[in-house]
Amino acid sequence: MARIHGNVCKLCRREGGKLFLKGQRCFSEKCAVHRRPYPPGMHTRPPRKRSEFGLQLREKQKAKRLYGVMEKQFRNLFAKAKRQRGNTGENLLVLLERRLDNVVLLLGLAQSRFHARQLIAHGNVRVNRKKMTVPSYLVKPGDEISIKEKESIQKIAKDAVELNKGQAIPDWVEADPSNLRGKVLSYPKREDVPHPIQEQLIVELCSK
Ligand code: SF4
Repeated sequence: MARIHGNVCKLCRREGGKLFLKGQRCFSEKCAVHRRPYPPGMHTRPPRKRSEFGLQLREKQKAKRLYGVMEKQFRNLFAKAKRQRGNTGENLLVLLERRLDNVVLLLGLAQSRFHARQLIAHGNVRVNRKKMTVPSYLVKPGDEISIKEKESIQKIAKDAVELNKGQAIPDWVEADPSNLRGKVLSYPKREDVPHPIQEQLIVELCSK
């Protein structure tokens, strides 16, 4: 995940929608998108009509920020999506959705994407019972995700499960929150991507 310094809520306000970068706060009334629904900056001007390039760029930035991916990683994923069969834009979103940090978040084992990444990077997440420290690892059907059996780490994950109670879990993963585990049942489809991303605009930009 890209390291974001400063106030991450500004990123949401810049993109004009929630990127869910702060865990529980994002679901509360304190969310900056509700409190200040205009772009950041001291001299905020009325929105201008965006050029085609501007629209494409914003869409790419939105996807990168949502999944916490740096430009180089994003370009690599795009190249991979292009090599796969089918629609490149859909392939790209599916690849982003398959990232381990995203799946840990979907399973409710972390409070935010940043938290999920930290858990993984610190060696507290297991994939098929083996330590996995790469947040960008792409999960596949049959993978079992669990949390290190250490009391303090399990407590952190349990707190996250408690906070995420009631959150919808997509059909392509199976969650077992009481045991802090989950399983990947299938590859995600385009309709499993919950974010409002216009992938075609990204494809147009990245294909130039
Ligand atoms: Fe974005 Fe969450 Fe901040 Fe709201 S609280 S602006 S969704 S990071």
